[in-house]
Amino acid sequence: MESKKRKNIRSENKPEKEVIPSEKWLVSFKNHHNSRASLFPRIIIRQFYAQGYYEAYDMIRSYAEKLSLEIMWFKEKRNCSNLFISKTFPLLESICIYCNRIFNDLEPIPCLKDDCIHMFCSTYCLEKHIRLKHCVKK
Ligand SMILES: [Zn+2]
Ligand SMILES: [Zn+2]
Repeated sequence: MESKKRKNIRSENKPEKEVIPSEKWLVSFKNHHNSRASLFPRIIIRQFYAQGYYEAYDMIRSYAEKLSLEIMWFKEKRNCSNLFISKTFPLLESICIYCNRIFNDLEPIPCLKDDCIHMFCSTYCLEKHIRLKHCVKK
């Protein structure tokens, strides 16, 4: 006998948007401009968190553009070889969207607007950005 167990459980409390968990990613850049001491370009590996491929690509693309680095590869850390998985790499630094400064975002300052993804190095830059981009009227 088949009992009807496929009732929707907790369907009322289900949020509209599906929450995608952040995955840990690894990215490898080639730095062609840091090779004065050596004939070979320097390879940099950074780790970061992103919700899926497109967010990951967005983050590393803007990083690579700002620092004129070449993206070698990037993938979810759990899909990398054991050699990489067991290692901890430096975090991918953030770039302040207002002043273009690179900062290590242990304590990043996100924009106050819910739908804005930008991060800032200081509250000064955040204020300037809000005035510039969101035209807050009080
Ligand atoms: Zn800044
Ligand atoms: Zn903003």
